[in-house]
Amino acid sequence: MLKIEHIGIAVKNLETAIPLYEKLLNSPCYKKEVVASENVTTAFFVQGPNKIELLESTNPEGVIARFIEKKGEGIHHIAFETTDIRAEMTRLKKEGFILLNEEPKMGADNKLVCFLHPKGTMGTLIELCQEIG
Ligand code: ZN
Repeated sequence: MLKIEHIGIAVKNLETAIPLYEKLLNSPCYKKEVVASENVTTAFFVQGPNKIELLESTNPEGVIARFIEKKGEGIHHIAFETTDIRAEMTRLKKEGFILLNEEPKMGADNKLVCFLHPKGTMGTLIELCQEIG
């Protein structure tokens, strides 16, 4: 596992969250992207070697909408960059972590992703990601 690639933050409304984070980070949102399979619209910021991903639900039944309902807005997941996501998934599965998807799937920002169940990580949703070349 390499560096923290990004931190995902659940927000109710990107229209208000984007300008707020632009002010906070003093850097512009460089990409907005809908991930239809996850029912989210994402907005990305680069800060040094890491990124911030804001996530807004496109659907009241979506995972982000349900997360906000339960816990309120805030940190939703931490994503680690991998060079070989499949090898990392195999390693973590062997170590007893629960993978939320058995095959890497297409995520935002041109990446293959896999999530680990927070039950196995002391409450934090972990994302593995690998840039698609
Ligand atoms: Zn993410």
